[in-house]
Amino acid sequence: MPTHYDLHAHSTASDGTLSPSELMRRAHAAGVEVMALTDHDTLEGLQEAGAAARKLGLEFVPGVEVSVTWLGITVHIVGLGVAPDSQVLDRGLARLREFRDWRAEEIGRRLAKHGIDGAFEGALGFSNGRLISRTHFARFLVQERHARDLRAVFRRFLVNGKPGFVAGQWAELEDAVRWIREAGGQAVIAHPARYPITRSKLRRLIKEFTDAGGEALEVVSGSHSRDDYFTMARHARDFGLLASAGSDYHGPEHPWIELGRLPKLPDGCKAVWKDWPISH
Ligand code: AMP
Ligand code: MN
Ligand code: MN
Ligand code: MN
Repeated sequence: MPTHYDLHAHSTASDGTLSPSELMRRAHAAGVEVMALTDHDTLEGLQEAGAAARKLGLEFVPGVEVSVTWLGITVHIVGLGVAPDSQVLDRGLARLREFRDWRAEEIGRRLAKHGIDGAFEGALGFSNGRLISRTHFARFLVQERHARDLRAVFRRFLVNGKPGFVAGQWAELEDAVRWIREAGGQAVIAHPARYPITRSKLRRLIKEFTDAGGEALEVVSGSHSRDDYFTMARHARDFGLLASAGSDYHGPEHPWIELGRLPKLPDGCKAVWKDWPISH
């Protein structure tokens, strides 16, 4: 029975820096036994990752991280066990990718007005012509020395109220959950402790997510503190949700999160994988 699960990670199909196969190799080498690929708004890397995992004898979970706009903030919903060829899911994601393309040009225009030229082209270079994300803008802005690291770049240029910010127009929460379910997957609220909302608003999000058919909360996340694990475990229990665990790995250039280092779920959590065939 596997014990090392990592159910949230990115590849070059979105804003990670390892290819899907490189990600699988690194996860396997780090001792992960069950590994998901959950790129932002695309199913693009799933086939390659699945094939690479099979060769390694690593259990692979095809996934996705869907961008959602909920009461004006961006929330991420991870889908686990989605069919990589799901038409319903990919049609939904295609609309989000169109918004991404428009938003990237708009970010470029806004940064240009702020005196930073060539940001759109620079970000495009970092995305290698694949899905484009704020992370690619951030890498370009660091390279051009507009800030010393990714965190500082986001804080100064890419978040609400800053020169390169463009408000999200992502999926509806209910639609994201429905696409994932229709693709045969389980919906999970990603890194729930990271949203800039009050506790009561977070509980409202969890309630609406649960009512829409969402099944799990990411209790253990690379972007959670130890305290967050316990707070989120409690929310999961209160709403009858399962618990997931994922590093949110984006590549070795982000050394504060490494693969294969996630702690166990807190006691009392029901794991999102409890009924998966590989868990028995
Ligand atoms: P996007 O979906 O294009 O708006 O980009 C969101 C991505 O930006 C997230 O998935 C993270 O990878 C990254 N990100 C967001 N905020 C930060 C931050 N403060 N520092 C570093 N990366 C961030
Ligand atoms: Mn990301
Ligand atoms: Mn996320
Ligand atoms: Mn993520």
